[in-house]
Amino acid sequence: MSLVTADILGVNVAAITMKEAVELAVQFIEKKNNAMIATANAEMIMRATYDAELKMILNKADLVVPDGAGTVWAANYLDCPMTERVAGFDLVQNLFKIAPQKKWRIFFLGSAPGVADKAKLKAEKDYPGIQIVGTQNGFFNDEDNDTIVKEIKKTAPNILLAALGVPKQEKWLYKYIGQLNCPLSIGVGGTFDVMAGVMKRAPLWMQRAKLEWMFRGMMQPRRAGRLLALPKFVLKVRSWKKKENK
Ligand code: UDP
Repeated sequence: MSLVTADILGVNVAAITMKEAVELAVQFIEKKNNAMIATANAEMIMRATYDAELKMILNKADLVVPDGAGTVWAANYLDCPMTERVAGFDLVQNLFKIAPQKKWRIFFLGSAPGVADKAKLKAEKDYPGIQIVGTQNGFFNDEDNDTIVKEIKKTAPNILLAALGVPKQEKWLYKYIGQLNCPLSIGVGGTFDVMAGVMKRAPLWMQRAKLEWMFRGMMQPRRAGRLLALPKFVLKVRSWKKKENK
């Protein structure tokens, strides 16, 4: 599959559908090449404009999917047709659906103590036969990194899901991916929180109305500043298009 990408504020995001993203993920797992998928929403792309390391990592990733209405809007506005968003949470659930039959082994890294274990139980209930071969919470010190890498390697996962928040998860994966010997790693943000019931996803009508960002801002009042992330992103993409003559 040749990938068409949209250059959004310097981050190359694949113009890809959910179905294609799942197919590519399967290929990555089967190729066993230590692939990395990032899920780029407007906030992540904004962050990459002032975090050069994050931008470099995203542009080196094997696949960056458009996670969010803002990303899809920006691509279309920049004349790169993009039909749908590929939310990290949904991509992961789609992979879980086929995991039992493929006999994939999956490791959950990240989120607060206990949350990944609850998410594991939820996955085992929803996808009978799924093999979640290990969990590790995301609140560890730098000196624990080597032990954690060893622990993950010992379980020989086909997929590593990292939920350490942006940009920690991308930077952690980039640093350790060569040692992990895991065919596919994905930065999945709040996925375990939602699976464990610690966080709610926006109701479907809000997702369809492209208002999930607003729901998230409302659910986390201490992060109400996040509500401004999307309007700021829109303004930035507009002035970028003018400046770059895109
Ligand atoms: N998280 C973690 N370790 C950290 C910071 C965050 O495991 O040092 C987890 C957090 O518990 C949550 C997930 O990362 O499950 C996403 O966190 P947040 O909502 O801060 O991330 P963002 O939405 O910015 O990606």
